[in-house]
Amino acid sequence: MISFLDLKKINEPYETAFQEKLKTVLHNGWYILGKELETFEKAFAEYNQAKYCIGVGNGFDALVLIFKGYIELGKLQKGDEVIVPANTYIASILAILQVDLVPVLVEPKLETYNINPDLIQEKITPKTKAILVVHLYGQLAEMERINKIANQNNLLVIEDAAQSHGAFENPNNSKSQIPNAMNVILSEVEESSGTKAFSFYPGKNLGCLGDGGAITTNDKELAKVLFSLRNYGSEKKYYNEYVGVNSRLDELQAAFLNLKLPNLDNDNNKRRAIAKRYLSEIKNNKIELPFWGFSENHVFHLFVIRTENREALQEYLTQNNIQTVIHYPIPPHKQKAFPEWNNLSFPITEKIHNEVLSLPISPVLTEEEVSFVIEILNRY
Ligand SMILES: *Cc1c(COP(=O)(O)O)cnc(C)c1O
Repeated sequence: MISFLDLKKINEPYETAFQEKLKTVLHNGWYILGKELETFEKAFAEYNQAKYCIGVGNGFDALVLIFKGYIELGKLQKGDEVIVPANTYIASILAILQVDLVPVLVEPKLETYNINPDLIQEKITPKTKAILVVHLYGQLAEMERINKIANQNNLLVIEDAAQSHGAFENPNNSKSQIPNAMNVILSEVEESSGTKAFSFYPGKNLGCLGDGGAITTNDKELAKVLFSLRNYGSEKKYYNEYVGVNSRLDELQAAFLNLKLPNLDNDNNKRRAIAKRYLSEIKNNKIELPFWGFSENHVFHLFVIRTENREALQEYLTQNNIQTVIHYPIPPHKQKAFPEWNNLSFPITEKIHNEVLSLPISPVLTEEEVSFVIEILNRY
């Protein structure tokens, strides 16, 4: 059986290092808000070319805390509208609702599955204060256009990067290769760009051994509030400045992430190489392949194809020992949790949810396994 995602195999190479780290952390006797977290926050901020990184409990909390932070700073208020893609994973929408903001759903582009910038403007009202962009399946949304719309309308941009660790807009924008002049220009761009929420759920491109999350931002004031909010709204022990929560990335998870972060680019490149093979070698007119411009803007958290009779294709693949998953079977507006939205119509979102199927893709999938998936799909 080719499993959809073999987490055990993904973490196997780290086993000895994990065990040593466990021992170190155990013997340090310091398990929350310590040196491992500080090290990770510094490394992950640098990796993302962001000024600040705040480690938190999970990806959902990362989103919620960003909104709470902006509320504390007076940049958002309860009842404000937040533009969000209609076909995101439900966490994005739940995070907006959690802080009494109002999600306004916008259709995606069928080709990229990401929010369609052409449809944002018409959804903007005097109450609209932010756009929550989701880089779905690991591919960056059209940030240049979205940032422009946001600037023109004075909107905050928040990025749900839970599926896109290591995706960069400009191919030259990866850490090591930036010439100095470029660096200056990029840092100006970055200054105004969005605050990002990450998840380190085990199955994400950078995953820990439990729940974990982080926020990166260049906004100094926001960062200051967030460091406090995640720890009961307290910077100095027993002095509480904000109505905070308990959402901290613990020392052990931070330690594991410190061991895995150096391999993230490598892992993403392996995913891209598999995606390239799928894109060039799968030849079947019953199957719609995902769009990718072959830049570093995609880290293939998922490789998502579309087909009209999805259940038949999934059954065929199962019979051929290939495990697939549907991301996601029901769009947020059709979920029982949101009866007030159930009659809304988002045809592109609904088409996507009816037709998508995710093929196995991960850094530990072998060439033979990829070949087998391609062969079986071409015979369908
Ligand atoms: C995984 C995910 C989240 C939530 O992350 P958790 O760590 O599971 O809370 C949010 N948004 C998207 C798009 C995700 O894929």
